[in-house]
Amino acid sequence: MRSYYIAGNWKMHKTVAESVALAKELKEKLAGCGEKVLVAPAFTALAAVAEALKGSNILLGAQNMGPEEQGAHTGEVSVLMLKDLGVKAVILGHSERRHSYSEGDALINKKVLLALKHGIEPILCVGETLEEREGGTLEAVIGMQVREGLKGVEAAALKSVTIAYEPVWAIGTGKTATPEDADAVHAYIRKVLASLYGETASKSMCIQYGGSVKADNAASLMAKPNIDGALVGGASLKVDTFAPIALFR
Ligand code: PEP
Repeated sequence: MRSYYIAGNWKMHKTVAESVALAKELKEKLAGCGEKVLVAPAFTALAAVAEALKGSNILLGAQNMGPEEQGAHTGEVSVLMLKDLGVKAVILGHSERRHSYSEGDALINKKVLLALKHGIEPILCVGETLEEREGGTLEAVIGMQVREGLKGVEAAALKSVTIAYEPVWAIGTGKTATPEDADAVHAYIRKVLASLYGETASKSMCIQYGGSVKADNAASLMAKPNIDGALVGGASLKVDTFAPIALFR
């Protein structure tokens, strides 16, 4: 049976105590959940959440990382530090990083390669703005983000990479792409992947959808053939709104 990958991005929310409380609730509620589930708390809560998740299948993720292994990079958190805490995956190129912190494809690609080098699975986020969609450049934008984000990634490393398609206009807005629209973009991403790595590799890649995913739209989105999971922001902050997404079937 096809398995899905559901990730919760807690963004800049929750103290350490609040993060631990949510992790414990999810551990209990999602015991036995057959999907791959990941939570990405703030850096400050990673160690405590790692401890709270011990004995569960829920994976620990980070929301970003620096582009260097170590050194004089004030304010950055390195891949080695994440690894040390038991982080298994890292969200890279989130639209908030691209748009509020001016992260470009080259920087994101550097982080993708560094994460892979150290055995941390990147979730590479791509997505168009409303202006780009309405201006007819959706495919050009998405194609560029996928190609540049994966530059130098060997075919053998692809199984460790997830792509998250997150239309910028759907993040935190309550607007969701229709399952049909989202699936069409996922299909286009597979086409780009096939041109880079071949059909077989493209078909087996995990592509999550993100953008106002909630319990009431998760099943219809994930029923689509090219949608392999969800990257969830707002609805990942409470057990009552996140657990039903992970338990959607
Ligand atoms: C996100 O931040 O990746 C996201 C999809 O947020 P939301 O679910 O709140 O739209």
